[in-house]
Amino acid sequence: MFCPECGALMKPSGDEWVCKKCGAAKKRSDEDDDKITTEKEEEKKMVVIEKEESTQPKTKVRCPNCDNNEAYWRLEQTRAADEPETRIYRCTECDHRWREY
Ligand SMILES: [Zn+2]
Ligand SMILES: [Zn+2]
Repeated sequence: MFCPECGALMKPSGDEWVCKKCGAAKKRSDEDDDKITTEKEEEKKMVVIEKEESTQPKTKVRCPNCDNNEAYWRLEQTRAADEPETRIYRCTECDHRWREY
């Protein structure tokens, strides 16, 4: 934390930063608020990602791992253009992943 008046290093004093050189003071809570806001935004981003995950299309398919009858699925492009796409399944119960051949 540097003094906005003279650029000297400021020392924390109570809930303020105080400049030892020119006596300028700045509330410390300003800085803390910025930090909290950033953390909250990070949290929001995480929630959005989780939501996207849960809105993946589901299909009735038997999980080979737990015999559950529902799984998320998506298409995976293979590298060779003349090969068909592969369906990737993910079990809604046990998170087991497998592909359709
Ligand atoms: Zn100063
Ligand atoms: Zn399963």
